[in-house]
Amino acid sequence: MPLRIVKKIKDENFRASAFRRFLPPHIILLISILTTMLATYYVAATVEENDSLRFENEIQETEENIDKRLDAYIALLRGSAGLFAGSDFVKSEEFKSYVERLRLDQNYPGIQGLGFAPKITPGEFNSHFQEAETVYPNFKVYPEGNRPVYYPIVYLEPQNKKNMKALGFDMYSDASRKSAMDKARDSGMRGATGKITLVQEIGPEKQAGFLIYLPIYKTSKVPETVEKRREDIAGFVYAPFRTDDLLKGIFGSNTQNLVNFKIYDGTEIEPANLLHNSTTSASSMPRFEKTINLDVAGRTWTILFTTKPQFEKGSNWNFIPLTLILGSFLSFLFYFISRSQAQAFAKAEKAALNLQYSQEKLKQSEMRYRLVVENTNDIISLLDEDGNFVYTSPSFKKVLGYTPRELIGKKSFSIIHPDDVAHVQHEMAKAVKGNMVGATFRIKNKRGKYLYFEGNGTAILDKKGRPEMIVSTSHDITERTELEKRKDEFISMASHELKTPVTSLKVFTQVTQTLIAKNDLKKAESFLVKMDDQINKLTRLISELLNLSRIQSGKLELNMENFEIDTLVEDIVESLNATTLTHKIILKGKARSKIYADRDRIGQILINLITNAVKYSPRADKVLVSVTKQEKSIKIAIKDFGIGIPKEHLGKIFERFYQVSEGSDGTYPGLGIGLYISSEIARRHKGKINVESKKGEGSTFYLELPLKS
Ligand code: ADP
Repeated sequence: MPLRIVKKIKDENFRASAFRRFLPPHIILLISILTTMLATYYVAATVEENDSLRFENEIQETEENIDKRLDAYIALLRGSAGLFAGSDFVKSEEFKSYVERLRLDQNYPGIQGLGFAPKITPGEFNSHFQEAETVYPNFKVYPEGNRPVYYPIVYLEPQNKKNMKALGFDMYSDASRKSAMDKARDSGMRGATGKITLVQEIGPEKQAGFLIYLPIYKTSKVPETVEKRREDIAGFVYAPFRTDDLLKGIFGSNTQNLVNFKIYDGTEIEPANLLHNSTTSASSMPRFEKTINLDVAGRTWTILFTTKPQFEKGSNWNFIPLTLILGSFLSFLFYFISRSQAQAFAKAEKAALNLQYSQEKLKQSEMRYRLVVENTNDIISLLDEDGNFVYTSPSFKKVLGYTPRELIGKKSFSIIHPDDVAHVQHEMAKAVKGNMVGATFRIKNKRGKYLYFEGNGTAILDKKGRPEMIVSTSHDITERTELEKRKDEFISMASHELKTPVTSLKVFTQVTQTLIAKNDLKKAESFLVKMDDQINKLTRLISELLNLSRIQSGKLELNMENFEIDTLVEDIVESLNATTLTHKIILKGKARSKIYADRDRIGQILINLITNAVKYSPRADKVLVSVTKQEKSIKIAIKDFGIGIPKEHLGKIFERFYQVSEGSDGTYPGLGIGLYISSEIARRHKGKINVESKKGEGSTFYLELPLKS
């Protein structure tokens, strides 16, 4: 797969898996934030419920305390009323000792006193006060003035300074007191006034106050009807209260209270109605606020409760931000942990992908390297310092026939030609020092044949400059070397071939000169014929050499024309038959076609093939030439019954300077270029020359030329 694609897949994979990896941390974050919000809401709701319960408890407790205490006072009044009811005038000492026995200070805190106010009509006025005047020397009913009925305070215990001030005060003269008294009289039960300022208030600190009355009738039982009650009313026992003192008496200085309360007379919350304010420390923003109504001796009080800072302190509301903060903290902690885990995974995955990518890259580069190494015709080997094979490229098999297994561990010198070993060793010694060296040497192939190689090598050195191994690359130059050799042989042969006719010509010239001088013209003429022969030989030789050089330089020119192939073949066979004494050249078949070609060159091929057939069949006496027309070509076969060509040479005889020279048949004169030139000319005509041959039986050469070129 191309690296570009691998990289693309790698990047895409990474992006997809990055999304996959980073989704869970975000989901975790979302879930934990939602959980935190839920938990916070739950805590808030619980705290709210708890606080509200605490507040309600406080209210209830406060209400009960006030209620209980007032009930106790009313009971006290009821007892006092019992003292007066139905009896004759109660003497002041009796009342005094009664009140003393009650120990008001200790048992009834907040109560200012217990008093008695009889009903007095103007007629009874003087007789009623004899007693009072004896007890209280300055006793006087006030306010002054004539009224149809008076209820002055005649007894008021304990006799302190404040209470003394109230003596003689006609309470029925005050509207607020009168209404409470009327209510008590008519109902036969207790009646409380609204907010008043007690007449006892003589000090600078005035408190709000109220009075509770209990009616006393002339009969010991409460009369049944309102009219009867009005008729029989004899007076009232009453108790004056200073509200602040009363409440202080109830709650003491209990600062443990968690609520503040303000008591208003009536149902309206107005400063004018304020009876008591318990506030010692107030919250700027109380958590809770509530008003309740309380029945006090038949009168309604409104109490406004608010929470104190102590209440807020005792509340668990701080759990709410704590839950929120802790939850958020944990949410983000989980998020970061899972994110860092995802990051670590992503990193690992990226590293793995990178590794995969590098491995792929490595594999591909390895593959490229292998492709080069395995497909080259060069043989590559690694040798240790002693020249033993450590590695051999697969090309060893192709070039030399050895598998790596056959060579690794073996001495490289064992397959080098003994004559070349010294030279190679000498070069290797230089290579070991890190030099790049080159040498030409022979290596024995698996079949035992030595092939020529040109090799380069150098040592791979370690960090300390010591040779680790020697790498060498060599390529087969056998063919080139053999060609060179053949070329050399050719030159010497060509020189020889040229020299022979020239020497003959020289001798013949001299002989001819002598014969002419002797006037033996007949003999001289025969020598001239021989000389012509030699000149023809020379001309042929020179023209072959010329052709060779033209072919090699690509300058062989063809004079193309249309001609009858049959005529050409007939002409050549005829002329060769005329000059060949040993063999009969027999022509068979006709093409009856014209071909478009260079007539002389085609003739040259035919002459070459027929003369070869004659030359290489010394023991035969005929050569067969046959012409056949094929679908698209003309095929001319030249068959001899001569020495034939060994199989291994068949492919090579068309090469330059190649000559088969072996066996007892000895060497045949020639330069080894005829077939090369012939096959090149045929190739230029888009034709070809083939050969079939069997050693000792003869050869058949085929020239095939296209009908239309
Ligand atoms: P030469 O000048 O040596 O004949 P050629 O190129 O014509 O050169 O032939 C090349 C070689 O092919 C010859 O040396 C010979 O060994 C072999 N050869 C060519 N023709 C024949 C043949 N008809 N029979 C046997 N061997 C042949």
